[in-house]
Amino acid sequence: MSHVITSRCAGVRDRACLEVCPCECIYDAGEQFVIHPDDCIDCGACVAACPVDAIYADVDLPEADLPALAFNRAFFGL
Ligand code: SF4
Ligand code: SF4
Repeated sequence: MSHVITSRCAGVRDRACLEVCPCECIYDAGEQFVIHPDDCIDCGACVAACPVDAIYADVDLPEADLPALAFNRAFFGL
């Protein structure tokens, strides 16, 4: 399990999640930020920090946001 950033980050990209993440597992993927699934410790701090509710635990992802799971993983070659 890990947390996942959805496409709602695009256009906002305010880096609020990066500032609260304790393990530096959030990366700039260009149009949006992404979370390294192997390094995320599921603390949830980024969820509360995001102003547009772009971040979910992977098990709680809305069906419409399922492509975000693959996008986050693909950025790291997973
Ligand atoms: S859940 Fe915690 S460890 Fe995972 S990306 Fe968010 S702040 Fe970082
Ligand atoms: S806090 Fe939300 S909008 Fe801001 S960079 Fe992180 S995921 Fe994107």
